[in-house]
Amino acid sequence: MWKFLLMAVLTASIYAGAQSIKPATQLVLLGTGTPNADPDRSGPAVAIVVNDVPYVIDSGPGVVRRASAANRNGIKGLAVANLRRLFLTHLHSDHTAGLPDFIFTPAVLDRDAPLLIFGPPGTREMTSYILKAYRQDLDIRLKGLEPAKPKGYDIRAKDVFPGEIYRDDNVTVKAFKVNHGSWNYSYGYRFDTVDRSIVISGDCAPSESIIKACNGCDVLVHEVYSEEGFAKRPPEWQRYHSKFHTSSSELADIAAKARPRLLVLYHQLMWGASKESILKEIAGKYHGKVVFGGDLLFR
Ligand SMILES: [Zn+2]
Ligand SMILES: [Zn+2]
Repeated sequence: MWKFLLMAVLTASIYAGAQSIKPATQLVLLGTGTPNADPDRSGPAVAIVVNDVPYVIDSGPGVVRRASAANRNGIKGLAVANLRRLFLTHLHSDHTAGLPDFIFTPAVLDRDAPLLIFGPPGTREMTSYILKAYRQDLDIRLKGLEPAKPKGYDIRAKDVFPGEIYRDDNVTVKAFKVNHGSWNYSYGYRFDTVDRSIVISGDCAPSESIIKACNGCDVLVHEVYSEEGFAKRPPEWQRYHSKFHTSSSELADIAAKARPRLLVLYHQLMWGASKESILKEIAGKYHGKVVFGGDLLFR
């Protein structure tokens, strides 16, 4: 039997000032995974849904089905045809392997508006290659017998640079650079909505820019790795992780300076360590509110 176990929907109860009204902004962790093919954790993807309009950050494998699951569980804005705005933090495959899915599945399922994709330099090129790779599919769906909405296949990808990159009635989105090892461009994003400020770290080693971008924000969604797990990793992997990612105690330091109302862990690299262990590592140095993020679990 399919069973809904957990969905990390963080409501406005964490946001002072909006206690009596329905929150305009919902944060849904669609996928909290990493390159590890953990069947319980979909690839990285976070949805910020404002007045039932979804803004999705990253497109890890499984993203569209997770959106569909969230929709089935009451997040109205995450109907698949509504997936029209995507923000990529960087072009690592675990964050983009779901890009063809994000482009094509909603188009087949009646998306009737262009898809806007924003990301670091290379985003346009990646998107154009995906469209070329699916040339035959596009041809058959758009010119064959299948009823299709051509607007849903209008894909507009844009390479963006740090600063304000998007604004509409619901949100203002700012991109900022983070340190992600040898990537020239890897971004975090700050979303300001009518009732919340949310910062998404993307993948990064400790980055001052996150402290600046959050600066007392409502929610900081940050990647992390377990120090207990790290200690058991081979030296060559330790070298890699410490250049590309953020340890639990490094995150505690960042959170203490960034002062979010709520810190949400995602993209957790655990290597066998438990949820309790990583929360304890953080609590040793940081006393704010922390949630171990999980995505929709169906078993
Ligand atoms: Zn990643
Ligand atoms: Zn990465």
